[in-house]
Amino acid sequence: MTTAGNEFAGRVALVTGAARGQGRTHALAFAERGADLVICDRCSDAPGVGYPLGTEEDLAETARLIRALGRKVIAVTADTADRPALEALVARAEAELGGVDVAVANAGVSAMSLITDHDQAVWDDVVDTNLKGVFNTIAACAPGMARRGYGRIVTVSSMLGRTAVPGQAAYCAAKWGVIGMSKSAASELAPQGVTVNVVAPGNIDTPMVRNDNLYRVVRPDLDEPTWDDVAPVLQQNHAVPIAVLDPFDVTRAVLFLADEASTYITGIVVPVDAGAASRTS
Ligand code: NAD
Repeated sequence: MTTAGNEFAGRVALVTGAARGQGRTHALAFAERGADLVICDRCSDAPGVGYPLGTEEDLAETARLIRALGRKVIAVTADTADRPALEALVARAEAELGGVDVAVANAGVSAMSLITDHDQAVWDDVVDTNLKGVFNTIAACAPGMARRGYGRIVTVSSMLGRTAVPGQAAYCAAKWGVIGMSKSAASELAPQGVTVNVVAPGNIDTPMVRNDNLYRVVRPDLDEPTWDDVAPVLQQNHAVPIAVLDPFDVTRAVLFLADEASTYITGIVVPVDAGAASRTS
C-alpha cells in the first residue's frame, strides 16, 4: 500500500504524539488518503527522558502539512497521561468532525538506565506515557466508536514488547503491557465493530533514536559517539542487516490495520522490525 488512494475519505483519524517522527508520518498518510485528523502532542520535555521531545512548532508544522493536503485538522497540546484532556479532545472531535473512526495510540518516550538506577522520574515518565497514555487513548475513543458500531484502534508497542534488553525495564514493562491491554480491549470491543491491534516497531529512524543521549548509552566506551559508531550496534537488534527502518515502514502496517476492510483482524501484534520477531516466540 504505497500509492495513496482515497480509502479513508469521510473518516476521522486521531494520532497521538503527532508533532514529529512516526506520529507525523501516520497522520500525513491518513490525510493523503482522505481522512480528517485529530492530533495531539505534549510539546514539552519530560524530566526522566534524556532527549528533547516534540515542540509546539513541530505540532503546528504537522497541522500545516495536513491542511496543505486539503484536510481538516484539530491540533492540540495535550499529554496522553492526562485522561480528561484526551476526553475533551475526543468530545471536540465529535462536535466538530462527527467523531473519531481511527485512533493511533502512538505517543511514547524512551529512557534508558539500569534497574538499580531507575529513579522515580524515569519510571513515571515512561509508564505514564507508554502504558497509561495508551490506555487513556483507548478509553477516550472507544465509547464513541462502540456507540457508532465502528472503530479501528492501533496501539504502538515495540520489539521490546516481546523481548527485553538491559537498561530498559520501564520501557519493556510498558510495551509488554500495551500488548496485554490491547488484546483485552480487542476482546471487549469486538462485538461493537471496533478492532484493536498492535504494531511493534524495531529501530525506527526518528529523534527517539537519533539523539546524543542514546549514542552515549549505546557506546559508553567512546567520549563523543556518533551515528556511525552506533548504527552497527543497533543493526544487531534486527535479523535483516539494517540499523533503522523508515517511519513509513510502520505506517504501512498502521494503514492496513486501520483499513475498513480489516474487519476480522483484531487482537493481533504486527512486528515491523526487520526480522527481530524471528528470534522470539
Ligand atoms: P519521537 O520521539 O520522534 O516521537 C514521539 C512523539 O510523542 C514526540 O513528538 C513527543 O513529544 C510525543 N510524546 C511523548 N510523550 C507524550 C505524551 N505523554 N503525550 C503526548 N505526546 C507525547 O519517537 P517515535 O519513534 O516517533 O515514537 C513513536 C512510537 O513508536 C512510540 O510509542 C515509541 O515508543 C515507539 N517505538 C519507537 C521506536 C524507535 O526506534 N523510534 C521503536 C519501537 C517503538
